[in-house]
Amino acid sequence: MGAYSRAEDTTVEAKQAKSSALAQVETKGMPLVTREITRQWTIEDSEALYRIEGWGQPYFSINAAGHITVSPKGERGGSLDLFELVNALKQRNLALPLMIRFSDILEDRIERLNACFAKAIARYNYPGTYKGVYPVKCNQQRHLIEELVTFGKPHQFGLEAGSKPELMIALAMLDTPGALITCNGYKDREYIETAMLSQRLGQTPIIVLEQTEEVDLVINAAKNLGIQPIVGVRAKLSTQGVGRWGTSTGDRAKFGLTIPEIIQVVDKFREADLLNSLQLLHFHIGSQISAIQVIKDAIQEASKIYVELARLGANMKYLDVGGGLAVDYDGSQTNFYASKNYNMQNYAYDIVAELKDACAEHNVSVPTIISESGRAIASHQSVLIFDVLGSSDVPNEEPEAPKEGEPPIIWNLWETYQSINYENYQEAYHDATQFKEEAISRFNLGILRLAERARVERMYWACCRKIVKLTREEDYVPDELEDLEKIMASIYYINMSVFQSAPDCWAIDQLFPILPIHRLDEEPTERAILADLTCDSDGKIDRFIDLRDVKSVLELHSLKSEEPYYLGMFLNGAYQEIMGSLHNLFGDTNAVHIKLTPKGYQIEHVVKGDTMKEVLGYVQYDVEDLVEKIRRRSEHAMQEKRITLQESQLLLQNYERSLSRYTYLVD
Ligand SMILES: *Cc1c(COP(=O)(O)O)cnc(C)c1O
Repeated sequence: MGAYSRAEDTTVEAKQAKSSALAQVETKGMPLVTREITRQWTIEDSEALYRIEGWGQPYFSINAAGHITVSPKGERGGSLDLFELVNALKQRNLALPLMIRFSDILEDRIERLNACFAKAIARYNYPGTYKGVYPVKCNQQRHLIEELVTFGKPHQFGLEAGSKPELMIALAMLDTPGALITCNGYKDREYIETAMLSQRLGQTPIIVLEQTEEVDLVINAAKNLGIQPIVGVRAKLSTQGVGRWGTSTGDRAKFGLTIPEIIQVVDKFREADLLNSLQLLHFHIGSQISAIQVIKDAIQEASKIYVELARLGANMKYLDVGGGLAVDYDGSQTNFYASKNYNMQNYAYDIVAELKDACAEHNVSVPTIISESGRAIASHQSVLIFDVLGSSDVPNEEPEAPKEGEPPIIWNLWETYQSINYENYQEAYHDATQFKEEAISRFNLGILRLAERARVERMYWACCRKIVKLTREEDYVPDELEDLEKIMASIYYINMSVFQSAPDCWAIDQLFPILPIHRLDEEPTERAILADLTCDSDGKIDRFIDLRDVKSVLELHSLKSEEPYYLGMFLNGAYQEIMGSLHNLFGDTNAVHIKLTPKGYQIEHVVKGDTMKEVLGYVQYDVEDLVEKIRRRSEHAMQEKRITLQESQLLLQNYERSLSRYTYLVD
């Protein structure tokens, strides 16, 4: 990964899985040939190949049967076999693609975050507390919010709303005394009044000013309602974020107030005799901050502003550090955008230590620390399982030796094919490519027959296959051969829609760990890219996590007829569900909530995915109407004797049944 580094100066140990040792073997009566000596593939090889420990700890690992094991409570024990779970759920008529949510993982994430801050507070003798809030926008599903509120109770964990509808959720769903509701996003009078009035119901809303227009609205509402609100300001920090959300900070950021604007707010609140209400400073420098240095810089700048606000007379009590706590999607522990070079504990240490120092310097009392960690809370709890429907491969058979009378170009290619070895494969690749191109020109000139061209192409692919096998064993691969793996890749057709279930893969090149959930004790001999069900050529996945940068092909097993092949997409519990779209009218997937019990597990909730009827309704079709149209059309066709009664019955039966079924392919 070269340019990317870990915060601590440790080098990441490159565990390169080597499937098999290729050896030059002299066989009787034949020239030097390359023969594969396969040693037994182990689950440790799969573990290294898919980097499960890197991104999956402590929740995901591989068991002796070669299946993924889920330990939803982390180190606190208890586990289940994901493959067996999927089979059991399928027997309950829950078709794939299927989203499995592990409630215990959600609980563990909340516990972990709170434990990290508790440890930091103890370590630095911080005379204040931590009170997290969960940003609802990250995943708004009711069952998830309900669980979150329940699990968060011991920690007075609250909610963050970024819009009016999210405020509606937060105000109604949070029932933890003392837990906070941070109110962000664009606000109108109704939003502000509703938030303020909820104080009368026992809620603790904090209205965070993000735009200058909101200042007067808040002051007027407070006067009119006679309520003393808790108000915060969101600062535009000058600390530069990095990566995708780097522009969430700075003067040009969409949200937040500049320093002069913040000073104006203080003045206005003082004039309105509401300076006591001004209690919170908020910043959010973007999501998935992969470098700890950026976080350190931001907290340093923010704590200085906090102290200054207190010195100006504001009744400062809270510092809200926003989101940004990253998830290590590729398990590389680097500042690569799909990773992070720090852990949750470092994050908490840095925030607590910096705040303590800054406040001590000016004798300002330390704030209650709020974080709005969404991704770090919600990502791990859900896994999307989908099946592979089939594959298409480049020609994959051993070429036959040429016969007397075949054109010289076929003999040339055959010779090249036979000669390929470790020393000459790059040269052989040039030769083979040149012969193939020559053959195509000859074909275009009418010199080569179609069947002969087919022979040439098959032999060319055979050469490439042999070469690619050799390059896999090398640490260094010449540039021109790097793409060969991609060109040779199989296409695996998957029963899901990228646009519905992993929109960030398509929209912002986000990486999620993807791997088979079974057969992990078996060598994955194929290299593939994934193509989804939509008929959009963007509906594919051809970027996969890797220790170094990104892989363009994924190692998978060859498909067996009559045996399903299940893949899992992990860490996709944040943002994907709500941003998923109905491209090609593939709807929401089935979802289940699983909870560990002393005896195994129990299914807490089943949320059936969309039926065709439902998705058609979203685009304003009335299914009765559609059925009626088909019925009339088939009556007409019967009268004209274009369709039999039997055929027409079958057609209508299928049509009507489809409407009430899942939008994905079912077996
Ligand atoms: C999106 C958002 C968050 C959540 O960010 P994560 O990186 O997912 O933790 C928190 N606060 C605000 C204001 C946001 O807009």
